[in-house]
Amino acid sequence: MALIVQKYGGTSVGSVERIQTVAERVQATVQAGNSVVVVVSAMGKTTDGLVKLANEISSQPSRREMDMLLSTGEQVSIALLTMALQERGQAAVSMTGAQVGIVTEARHSHARILRIETERVKRALEQGQVVVVAGFQGISDAPDLEITTLGRGGSDTSAVALAASLQADTCEICTDVPGILTTDPRLVPSAQLMTDITCDEMLELASLGAKVLHPRAVEIARNYGVTLVVRSSWTEEPGTRVSAPSRLPRPLDGLELAHPVDAIEFDTDQAKVALLGVPDRPGIAAQLFGQLAQQQLNVDLIIQSINEGNFNDIAFTVEKDMLAQAKTLAASLVPALQGTSETPDAKPDSVLVSDTQIAKVSIAGAGMIGRPGVAAKMFSTLAAAGVNIQMIATSEVKVSCTIAAEDCDRTIAALCHAFELNQSPARLEAPATAQGPAVRGVVLDCDQARLALRQVPDQPGMAAKLFQILADRGISVDMIIQAQRCREHQGIQTRDIAFTVAQSDADMARGVLQSLATEFGSSEIIVDTAIAKISAVGIGMITEPGTAAKMFQALADSNINIQMIATSEIKISCVVAEDKGIAALKAVHAAFGLAGSEEIEVPA
Ligand code: ADP
Ligand code: ASP
Ligand code: MG
Repeated sequence: MALIVQKYGGTSVGSVERIQTVAERVQATVQAGNSVVVVVSAMGKTTDGLVKLANEISSQPSRREMDMLLSTGEQVSIALLTMALQERGQAAVSMTGAQVGIVTEARHSHARILRIETERVKRALEQGQVVVVAGFQGISDAPDLEITTLGRGGSDTSAVALAASLQADTCEICTDVPGILTTDPRLVPSAQLMTDITCDEMLELASLGAKVLHPRAVEIARNYGVTLVVRSSWTEEPGTRVSAPSRLPRPLDGLELAHPVDAIEFDTDQAKVALLGVPDRPGIAAQLFGQLAQQQLNVDLIIQSINEGNFNDIAFTVEKDMLAQAKTLAASLVPALQGTSETPDAKPDSVLVSDTQIAKVSIAGAGMIGRPGVAAKMFSTLAAAGVNIQMIATSEVKVSCTIAAEDCDRTIAALCHAFELNQSPARLEAPATAQGPAVRGVVLDCDQARLALRQVPDQPGMAAKLFQILADRGISVDMIIQAQRCREHQGIQTRDIAFTVAQSDADMARGVLQSLATEFGSSEIIVDTAIAKISAVGIGMITEPGTAAKMFQALADSNINIQMIATSEIKISCVVAEDKGIAALKAVHAAFGLAGSEEIEVPA
């Protein structure tokens, strides 16, 4: 007899008829010889309705009372679904998060799960009952026993955490689309279903805004090897399998607090090339990286920081062996760029610089962006070791910094110590495991804001200070970009630092920048909420030259200007103007051949 955890989302339990359909399906799963735990979300848009109600009473309701309010939505669904099961003659019992024993941190509105006390659920299952659990909620440890919630979309996390704790055979996330698609079908109806995807790719997609799965659910599936499937609530189709790597057993205690970093990696074979002062207009990145791709030069990191007037700096890394070729090619573009600038008068000279004495050090794991303290800890560790960070690449599964090659050994030692990893670091090898398409899926996120602090002193510890303060305020930062160009300001060398955060955190982040601007003697703060972030994710891009070039070309062909670029090993993100977001998504989705011939139907 198998144990299956099934989770049904809001749309799937959005009406009495749909609840009855779910009950029928749950009963069929039992009749097929399985034990079933069902996790449900609040009906339809109930949670949004409750948020709206709260906002009518208070512009800043307390987080505790919000949890008290929002957790009621799921309680309605568990009772109704259980009644529907009982009505069909299926023994069933509903349980709130507290009744199950889903113990979380006492942090309201974004609590992480500490452990799940499974005895009561197991007893009910042994009695032949279906256990219907309220998703999204938990309870803090005694003596307070506070009702907590896990963050919007958190029922997925409840389901996977239950599956891990009960050692279930499968966790099925049943939803209103046929599975994980190449992009959101509500924005691009020609999105196609994937049959499978790796946990790392799904972690990136989820953290970049694909809301089909809560990123923390994928994190738990990855860490505990849960068999995770996303499928339609209404058909028998198999949906998409999210494949977890096999890993050493982890203790279930401290479930979501488990070590987020499980490896330190380094690579000393890369060299950096930077083109400074290139015109800020569509097509420049496409031209540069298109030509590199034509010569089969595989580019690793690419960074384009916030523009300065009408000009940008673009930096990238290539294997050292390829440096001469990459430099010759980039140098050959310089005159062409100068000749085509639209504002020749204001143009600084385009300059090409390169550096072979660099090393890339990375921390790898899961949940890096979701846990803002992790990147901050990496930066502070480097700062404490007196190491200056040249380039930063962040993603949900990896944070990498390029540093001076001479600093590599002590940086690794400091990171192993800070993240309590005593095994020797892995040297990055040609990733033979990188099998899969260069781009598996594309995501658009229009809820981001772009911030920048101009003229930050170019010394160790600046990034650490900034991102530690943001982390202390619980603000997750996605793209982090230090400008390549150093400028003298008030007698010291300075650089700009730019990054993106969720729009809801933009005001708080601005406040942090304001306080630091005075301390650093910085000249200017920039906050722009009219942006869209478009990202492409795929494990195959590691080995496939030209993936970034293709994305940049697709944007150039649609005459879309790229405001910022940041890449990590398996993702490329570009910031574009907000009103170009959907066009950018469609163009990139089509460019990678992801559009299918049939349209996906999505219920309201
Ligand atoms: P549920 O209520 O079942 O949890 P959600 O609304 O949270 O459902 O997530 C499902 C929705 O996610 C889909 O209706 C779809 O619009 C959206 N979505 C975004 N990106 C993707 C993607 N790559 N694949 C599938 N669905 C996606
Ligand atoms: N009902 C909650 C929400 O709307 C949790 C969930 O649906 O996963 O965010
Ligand atoms: Mg959801």
